[in-house]
Amino acid sequence: MRFDADRVVTEGGEFPADLILFMPGMTGNAWFDATDLPRSPGGLVQADAQCRVPGRERVYVVGDSGSFPGPDWMPKQAHMADLQAAAAAANLLADLQGKASNETFKVELVCIVDAIDRGTLVFRNLRRNLLLPSARVFHWAKRAFEWKYLRRYR
Ligand SMILES: Cc1cc2nc3c(=O)[nH]c(=O)nc-3n(C[C@H](O)[C@H](O)[C@H](O)COP(=O)(O)OP(=O)(O)OC[C@H]3O[C@@H](n4cnc5c(N)ncnc54)[C@H](O)[C@@H]3O)c2cc1C
Repeated sequence: MRFDADRVVTEGGEFPADLILFMPGMTGNAWFDATDLPRSPGGLVQADAQCRVPGRERVYVVGDSGSFPGPDWMPKQAHMADLQAAAAAANLLADLQGKASNETFKVELVCIVDAIDRGTLVFRNLRRNLLLPSARVFHWAKRAFEWKYLRRYR
């Protein structure tokens, strides 16, 4: 694949473009290389479904840094990081109390793609896949969610 000034050329053909925004695939942080943590082929820290790093005692990973088992559409999202963090915290506490650490996390994509004056709701889980038409209400719903979410930290 390559980018020309006015087009994107791929193995399967080419298409014109006025603006090209390229987002490279995520790899792990550079400092991961200075550790012997187990890594995924893409360079992220390997995790199991309980957010534990295999072979390490009481080492957990959540969010963008981790590579988790699940469907190939599993998003790198703050929402997923939240769900994983809750599971990891519960598992660490259980572990410290000598109990089984078998809490897992839900896999779901919930996103409002905000275009400032309107937004598009995208939802996906293991059973449903939903994409609603763009509407002004979703822009305001995202603003309201942001306000509510951040309130507890302010
Ligand atoms: C443009 C954009 C829009 C997005 N929109 C959404 C959205 O609408 N909804 C959603 O759910 N998700 C969204 N995401 C994804 C979301 O931001 C990430 O999935 C989420 O922030 C991951 O959280 P994290 O805690 O794993 O990592 P991060 O939020 O990246 O936190 C990692 C932190 O570690 C710090 N750090 C790194 N290295 C070191 C070090 N050596 N020492 C100390 N600190 C260090 C970093 O500075 C950073 O603060 C968006 C992402 C982008 C880029």
